[in-house]
Amino acid sequence: MKINLNKEFDFRKVLEKESKERNIILTPKMIEKFELYKDLLLTWNKKINLTAIVDEYEIIMKHFIDCLELVKYIGAEDKVIDVGTGAGFPGIVIAIYFDGKMNITLLDALNKRIQFLDEVINKLELENVTLVHGRAEESAKKIDYREKYDIVVSRAVASLPVLLEYEVPYIKLNGKCLIMKGDNVETEIKNSKRALDILSCKINHTFVYRYQVYDEEYTRTILEIQKYKKTDNKYPRNNGQIKKNPL
Ligand code: SAM
Repeated sequence: MKINLNKEFDFRKVLEKESKERNIILTPKMIEKFELYKDLLLTWNKKINLTAIVDEYEIIMKHFIDCLELVKYIGAEDKVIDVGTGAGFPGIVIAIYFDGKMNITLLDALNKRIQFLDEVINKLELENVTLVHGRAEESAKKIDYREKYDIVVSRAVASLPVLLEYEVPYIKLNGKCLIMKGDNVETEIKNSKRALDILSCKINHTFVYRYQVYDEEYTRTILEIQKYKKTDNKYPRNNGQIKKNPL
C-alpha cells in the first residue's frame, strides 16, 4: 500500500480536478460533503472494517471517482437501491451527488456498516436516504422493495449470475441494473447467459472507463442490464440454493 505523504495534498482541489476531467461537476457543497465522508470513513475504519484503502488520494480515485462514473447513467428522478453497499459505495456517492433530489435506499447484511452509514447520513445531512439492514435475497421478497426501483446499483458484491438473482427482483419492468465490475467481464458475461434468460433481462450496454492511481492504471466496466418481464415469484431463491446452484 502506498501512502500519500505529500503535505501539500489538498483533498478538495484534487477531487474537484479529477471529477472535472471526467465531465462531472461537483459543487463546493458536494466537495465539502465528500471530505466529511472521507474523514468519517477513516475514523470509523479504525474501529470496524470498512475499507482497505486509507490513502486520501486513493480514496478519491478508487472510491469517489470510481463511483461517480455511475451518475452519468442515472437521473435525479430515478428511484435507486444499492445492494451490498458496504461503507456506502456507490450509494453514498450517488446520494451526495443528487442530494435532496433523489430517493435512494442502501442495503447491506452487516449491521455495523449500516450503523456507520447512519452516522454518515446524519453528519452530511443527506436527505431521502433509506437504510436497510438485511440480506439482498430476503428483502427482495418483501412487498416494500420488490419491483419498486428504477435502478439497482452495486459494486464488488458477488459474481454476475448470483448478483442478477439478488438484484433483478428489485427493479420495475424495464428498469435497469448498473453493475460495476473490473476489466475482465467477458467470462462473467458468458457464464451469465442462463441467469439473464431465466430472469428475463438483457445486457443493453457496457460502459468502459479508466483511471490512473500513482503508476497503476485501472480499467473498469459498468454493465447496464435491462429487465423486460416481471420476475417469477420463485426468485430470488434462498441463500443456500443460490450459492449451491447459481443460475
Ligand atoms: N459495495 C461496497 C464497495 O464496493 O466498497 C462493498 C463491497 S464488499 C466487498 C461486499 C458487501 O456486500 C459487504 O458489505 C457485504 O456485507 C455485502 N453483501 C454480500 N452479500 C450480501 C447479501 N446477500 N445481502 C446483503 N448484503 C450482502
